[in-house]
Amino acid sequence: MEDKIKLGISSCLLGEKVRYDGGHKLDHYLKETLGQYVDWLPVCPEVEYGLPVPREAMHLAGTEEGPRLVTSRTGVDHTDGMRRWAVQRLNELEKEGLCGFIFKSRSPSSGMRGVKVYSSSGIPVRTGVGIFAGAFMERFPLMPVEDDGRLQDPALRENFIERVFVFRRWKEFRGSEAKIKDPVSFHTDHKLLILSHSIRHYRTLGSMVAAAKQFQPEKLYSEYIYNLMEGLKLLSTTKKNTNVLHHILGYFKHMISSDEKQELLEVIENYHKGLVPLIVPVALIKHYVRKYNEQYLARQHYLNPHPVELMLRNHV
Ligand code: SF4
Repeated sequence: MEDKIKLGISSCLLGEKVRYDGGHKLDHYLKETLGQYVDWLPVCPEVEYGLPVPREAMHLAGTEEGPRLVTSRTGVDHTDGMRRWAVQRLNELEKEGLCGFIFKSRSPSSGMRGVKVYSSSGIPVRTGVGIFAGAFMERFPLMPVEDDGRLQDPALRENFIERVFVFRRWKEFRGSEAKIKDPVSFHTDHKLLILSHSIRHYRTLGSMVAAAKQFQPEKLYSEYIYNLMEGLKLLSTTKKNTNVLHHILGYFKHMISSDEKQELLEVIENYHKGLVPLIVPVALIKHYVRKYNEQYLARQHYLNPHPVELMLRNHV
């Protein structure tokens, strides 16, 4: 197992009793399952900013464009103080080598989307972003982020974890002795993974790398990673994965026996019909990759995007 991946997280999700009511919001999956592979960096904006536990509850109030962070009963406005604190904290976090952040959903400080904003009429709209979460995403626009609510969904969970691992590999690549040929190698390893999310981004990124010599390296890197992270946000689907699996079959067709080809076609079809999870055709393909020593496929992160123990591809 490689070094643990470093992720930021809202402290209450790890069971820290930092909520306004003195409680926590422990998420067992995050702490115990994902936690085996993660070095967590917990952040509680409200406590680190200086508020006590317990404390008066807060909410967002005002307009959707510029909501304020105010205490719910006495109306004390903490917006400016929280923003000043966030600038300092984000400066520190920049040095931490984070590969992603998991926010507590619906919090006026930590929620990354759909937070209630109360207008003067008293009727809330669910369009707000917590003050700290908003500042974080503005400062680190490429970094994978999700909230605990959305991570209950298996497809969103797999997507987030996949992006986190890609983002870490990118940081490692950028930290290494990057030469102009290296983006080609990085891209080659991720080709099928990208294809499983977006044909459009697969083509755009492929053209970008093919024309690498025409770019200033820094311009190439910034455009490449921007497009890569945007493309990976698009969820992979059964249809997209079936396309990738057929693509893979193309590499094997002159190598494997006709029985093996038939077996693989049947397994892909069963996956397509929703009868077996993605892990089934992928496991068979990995077996053939080893058996026939297929070098191009062996390096594809699509076949090993994250630790198998997380069982992210085991759902139908
Ligand atoms: S949601 Fe954010 S601010 Fe609220 S307790 Fe959790 S970490 Fe702290």
